Amino acid sequence: MAETTDVAICGAGIAGVAAAYHLTVAGVQDVLLIEAGEPLSLTSDKSTECYRNFWPGPGDGMVRLVNRSLDLMDALAQQSGNAFHMNRRGYLYCTADPNHLKQLRRAAEESSALGAGAVRVHPGHPETYRASEIHAPTDGFDVLCDTAFVHTHYPWLSESIIGALHVRRAGWFSAQQLGRLLLEQARARGTRLLRGQLQAVTTRGGRVESVSVATSAGTIHVAATAFVNAAGPWLGRVARCVGDNLPVYCELHAKVAIPDTARTMPRSAPLVILDDPQTLDWSVQEQAALREIGRDALLQQLPSGLHARPEGPDASPMLLALWPYHTPIEEPSFPLKFDEMYAEVVLRGLERLAPAARAYRGRLPRSSVDGGYYTRTRENRPLIGPIEIQGAYVLGALSGFGLMAAMGAGELLATHVTGATLPEYSRWFVPARYADAAYRAMLPAMEGKGQL
Ligand SMILES: Cc1cc2nc3c(=O)[nH]c(=O)nc-3n(C[C@H](O)[C@H](O)[C@H](O)COP(=O)(O)OP(=O)(O)OC[C@H]3O[C@@H](n4cnc5c(N)ncnc54)[C@H](O)[C@@H]3O)c2cc1C
Repeated sequence: MAETTDVAICGAGIAGVAAAYHLTVAGVQDVLLIEAGEPLSLTSDKSTECYRNFWPGPGDGMVRLVNRSLDLMDALAQQSGNAFHMNRRGYLYCTADPNHLKQLRRAAEESSALGAGAVRVHPGHPETYRASEIHAPTDGFDVLCDTAFVHTHYPWLSESIIGALHVRRAGWFSAQQLGRLLLEQARARGTRLLRGQLQAVTTRGGRVESVSVATSAGTIHVAATAFVNAAGPWLGRVARCVGDNLPVYCELHAKVAIPDTARTMPRSAPLVILDDPQTLDWSVQEQAALREIGRDALLQQLPSGLHARPEGPDASPMLLALWPYHTPIEEPSFPLKFDEMYAEVVLRGLERLAPAARAYRGRLPRSSVDGGYYTRTRENRPLIGPIEIQGAYVLGALSGFGLMAAMGAGELLATHVTGATLPEYSRWFVPARYADAAYRAMLPAMEGKGQL
């Protein structure tokens, strides 16, 4: 192992790997990726692997960043023969509430004005609407206001659904395949992977000087011109190695995978979201049992945001489902512990969207629950850019959008490090934004918006 590097990156999750890829594309010769575990395995292989360019304001930062990321992913998919199986099924936000459909339309219009594509409102049965487009992907949004029309295209949805918003620049992909492709290409251009735990970053005169890494062969000190903190849930802890305090916290999010023997939705379905809160339909006995074990909260109204999609190739029976009904803020701690009732609660909630899920009452399929931390800022915008110590950068707080944003975020980070011209949207993500009173004034309007 050489004892110097141009850029040392802490963390080989999707963020660190995308940064290494873009740094090498930009011509940086010597990049060192420092990883304590297996690359891409702490959070980056636990996601639903979905993407969308549907983002709220204020400001066009998120729409521009994710659009750029998706442009880069589209290009890489083309070059690689779609090695990471990117599709364009869309996100279908469903509601049983006419007022909420109006809100969804307003949210689409806001996002559209920020650059996410046109909004098409369909009061009737538009002939131009295609539920799933593979070869000529549509951009923007379709607002489906006619209940019968929604059920013609999606007959497996609950009759209670009265309308839907179909976000078209959206879908999913294999995050592992994308991450591996980026890692391979970064390594082919000279990136080295050092297995070990970053322990310290030494500075001199306010500049990064070196990093110290505990490896199985002992502690290694590497002189580094630049240091990038891409430590995922450990972002805050690693920042403290350079004396920085980042405004981040971690929220635990779970997902469940089941073999969908009840065929809750067809294999061609988009990602489907129930955008209404709901109270679960427990029997009197179940209610008593829940009270007895102290789970009264499950009898109350639970939040909107339950989402599900088919997983794997057409022949696969698998379905993924998520519902952020309980997302505690925690200090990161592994192994993770999830609600023992998670699968049951999510499948019960899914009935409100797709009634075939009722088949799982009392007959829960063999399920696997996993997940990880959403590392986030209070306004749910990432941190990408320099911190106060010269030569030190952060790339993180990627919350529930780190995979879809990684290509754009990695490119932006590389632009900061190399000193090339930054895109206008970079200002929304630099840590120094909190020093701007105008930005701080916007924070309350940003909180709680745009998260799945
Ligand atoms: C349930 C769930 C669903 C999600 N769904 C989606 C989705 O549909 N679409 C989407 O875009 N995103 C989604 N996400 C979010 C996405 O998974 C994350 O934003 C992304 O994986 C974060 O990547 P990261 O590289 O920042 O962090 P990580 O993947 O956690 O990588 C950080 C790496 O840093 C290493 N590290 C930390 N400290 C040190 C140290 N001191 N020394 C050495 N190595 C260190 C860790 O070992 C780890 O490998 C989801 C997340 C969850 C939990």
